[in-house]
Amino acid sequence: MSKIAMNTPLVEMDGDEMTRILWEMIKDELLTPYIDLKTEYYDLGLKKRNETDDTITRQAAERTKELGVAVKCATITPNAARVKEYDLKEMWKSPNGTIRSILDGTVFRTPILVKGIEPCVRNWEKPITLARHAYGDVYKNVEIKVPGKGKGYLVFEDENGNETKELIQDFKGAGILQGIHNTDASITSFANSCFKYALDTKMDLWFSTKDTISKKYDHNFKDIFADLYEKEYKDQFEKAGITYFYTLIDDAVARIMKSKGGMIWACKNYDGDVMSDMVSSAFGSLAMMTSVLVSPLGVYEYEAAHGTVQRHYYKHLAGEETSTNSVATIFAWTGALKKRGELDKLPELTEFAKKLEKATLSTIEGGRMTKDLALITSLEDVKVLNSGDFIKAVRSTLETL
Ligand code: NAP
Ligand code: MG
Repeated sequence: MSKIAMNTPLVEMDGDEMTRILWEMIKDELLTPYIDLKTEYYDLGLKKRNETDDTITRQAAERTKELGVAVKCATITPNAARVKEYDLKEMWKSPNGTIRSILDGTVFRTPILVKGIEPCVRNWEKPITLARHAYGDVYKNVEIKVPGKGKGYLVFEDENGNETKELIQDFKGAGILQGIHNTDASITSFANSCFKYALDTKMDLWFSTKDTISKKYDHNFKDIFADLYEKEYKDQFEKAGITYFYTLIDDAVARIMKSKGGMIWACKNYDGDVMSDMVSSAFGSLAMMTSVLVSPLGVYEYEAAHGTVQRHYYKHLAGEETSTNSVATIFAWTGALKKRGELDKLPELTEFAKKLEKATLSTIEGGRMTKDLALITSLEDVKVLNSGDFIKAVRSTLETL
């Protein structure tokens, strides 16, 4: 059987711990036997990041800008314990943060739905994709603990030294004060990523803020989205048969709970932080959540939403059997391959990626799954497989499709 050809390589970013083990198994069992896999390999494992003073991460991100599509394994974000464990030269920054600052994108997280793992919200039939703005607001705040009586002001000084000043509060006693900001450039790039991703996936786009209360700050988000939609995306949305819908955050929450799902929900930074955890846990498992960074430049980076599954890795190192779920990592690969196939006009590649997704889901629906899913499934008589055997089971299903 001849293998499926590729033109442009994927940027392949390898990672750490248990997910690094899964990464290799997935390539060996599910990809290279069928595809003439072309990748440019960057080892973002912590050891290599340390050896290269983290230049490897920046190189991988820069190359993604040129090649257009990347697939990334989960990586360790070092903390004090990791600095010791890996004898690091310094506490290197989060690779995802570095990549995001180079590609300037928005992260879209989508649950993978499978029969037998039911969402807690019964009427959710289709996945809800959450798009979180990843800059500013309370995550870049300045705070003051007010000790007692006095006046708190908001001050802006322009380049020529002219001041605009607003009284926030005339304190009669102790209290608290906070300053937050955002930029039109960042909001515009967030909006562009959201509109592009909606067109790409043919899903409706919802956006919500609290503009009735925050008449300048949140309203600015609403206006930027609305202007951009009118000027650049309205015709394309109409042609694609999808809608853009703005509503208040509290109304959005109520409507989402009653909906059938199937939309992209764009949120400001804090709302996105809170709502993405709600949506992902309501859908069942972090191991069933994909994540894609969409840059306004039209560049894509696919990964799993979970981390390196450290606890399982230590078991693996101790020679014990693990049952680590590889579904989100498999879907990171299929997402990247589908996109590559689409961009390079290689329908065979896209079809293969879809078939692999189907094989993965059918394997679970047929009652063969990893332990994390076995614990929450509504299916009966399930067979719990170890990490390697699950991937092999997916391969045997793939052979039958
Ligand atoms: P984690 O790797 O997501 O794992 C947390 C727990 O969730 C695991 O111990 C496991 O529970 C369960 N779990 C997660 N993924 C699973 C899977 N595929 N299959 C089965 N169970 C799964 O988070 P963490 O332990 O907090 O972080 C470990 C490392 O990952 C950290 O160094 C962190 O910096 C990094 N991280 C990287 C990324 C990224 O690269 N995108 C994201 C998050 C964290 P049980 O142990 O109960 O089985
Ligand atoms: Mg959070």
